[in-house]
Amino acid sequence: MSATQHTAPSGHEGADASQVYGRCFDAVVIGGGVIGLASAWQASKRGLAVAVVDPDPGHGASWAAAGMLAPVTEAHYGEEALLHLSLASARLWGAFAEELEADTGSDIGYRRCGTMLVAFDDDDRMAARQLYEFQLKLGLQVRWVSGREAREMEPNLAPGIRGALWAPNDHQVRTRHLVRALLDACQESEVAFVPERAVALEAPGGRLSAVRLASGIRLTCGAAVLAAGSWSRSVDGLPELAQVPLRPVKGVILRLAPAPLTASATPETEPPPLLTRTVRGMVQGSHVYLVPRADGSIVLGATSEERGFDTTVSVGALHDLIRLARRLVPGVTEMVLADATAGLRPATADNGPVIAAMGGDSGAEGLVLAFGHYRNGILLTPITASAVSAWLCGDPAPDEVSAFGPSRFCAPGSPGLPADGVR
Ligand SMILES: Cc1cc2nc3c(=O)[nH]c(=O)nc-3n(C[C@H](O)[C@H](O)[C@H](O)COP(=O)(O)OP(=O)(O)OC[C@H]3O[C@@H](n4cnc5c(N)ncnc54)[C@H](O)[C@@H]3O)c2cc1C
Repeated sequence: MSATQHTAPSGHEGADASQVYGRCFDAVVIGGGVIGLASAWQASKRGLAVAVVDPDPGHGASWAAAGMLAPVTEAHYGEEALLHLSLASARLWGAFAEELEADTGSDIGYRRCGTMLVAFDDDDRMAARQLYEFQLKLGLQVRWVSGREAREMEPNLAPGIRGALWAPNDHQVRTRHLVRALLDACQESEVAFVPERAVALEAPGGRLSAVRLASGIRLTCGAAVLAAGSWSRSVDGLPELAQVPLRPVKGVILRLAPAPLTASATPETEPPPLLTRTVRGMVQGSHVYLVPRADGSIVLGATSEERGFDTTVSVGALHDLIRLARRLVPGVTEMVLADATAGLRPATADNGPVIAAMGGDSGAEGLVLAFGHYRNGILLTPITASAVSAWLCGDPAPDEVSAFGPSRFCAPGSPGLPADGVR
């Protein structure tokens, strides 16, 4: 799914066929990205027999993502419902990380580092100030800092920057550590991995009963979760209500490592990390971000390209990202390019996810939808997994997800539909 070569995370190559085929699962999860894996892990911990179907688990958009947990600096005009959902999920993140780390013994790099949104020139300052006023009106925790104050907080910012919005509660997680930990957690809780592509849902009589795989095999189940990211519409047998507008938005992202130390370097002479907080930049109307990890590496992202399912990394994308980052933090040019990846953000017509349990009138009772998380899927993982696992166990989901059902795309004039309502 991405431009780099990956080896399968060890131990997750797939279950022995005899353990899987012919068995009836309480829930089959289609898609092993962060959304499907976290949902499977939590459902399994609640006592359900769960299988994850995915030919390449963990290597979709989730493998590319920067891992910003940033409801405030991601707040956009007209997306207030999404903001409420994002804030609710951000509040769950601390406990979610703690539980995952306790279950797996791994460090997923959840860091309460805060985020600075830096304005490069006067026009960028004006745009950032407008966003700041909007955020203040929404009651969000933000503070405006002068260029000088921003440089005192992050001395490696370029001297000419015009000011910054400081969001102390926008944090980060190391996404690839998160993905590996979720794979381990699923394994630990006996989730079965089926290394295949799901091709169709079977719901005779309006009740979901099986997921058909590319090999022709049917996995019988009491429920299914559609969590295949940008590919969620590729599965046949979706009820009409679930056929919402969905498109992949390519993001190219770079991973930069600190420059190698010289032979004479000692721990005392080792340079401090380039940044300590996440820095998002507005640079002459373009956007870029730098997410510093605890080991001194930096994740630099990301492009936003509408090119279908293409995941190549163009030279132009690399050039644009490095050019923008260098204007904000000139020292990045000393770093080493460690990785370049492209991932596909699953985007709906209103930028919000689809998180819903299909009822009896849908023609596929027992189907749970969990896709379309676009640019916030890592942030939204805890609340999505909590809703999905609750529904699978017959419990109520958190209130904040109620605005994210698929029916919002059905009314004439709704996002993604022409006024006559024809899809
Ligand atoms: C460059 C980039 C940077 C990002 N940065 C951030 C960030 O900082 N913070 C944030 O919150 N979000 C970020 N995102 C968004 C986030 O990565 C996504 O919203 C999230 O990963 C979506 O997760 P998912 O599990 O739905 O999809 P994916 O991770 O794409 O997983 C979908 C899975 O479904 C599988 N699949 C596909 N078809 C089938 C099928 N037919 N049968 C079975 N399996 C199938 C695929 O193999 C894949 O493993 C970023 C995205 C990109 C691309």
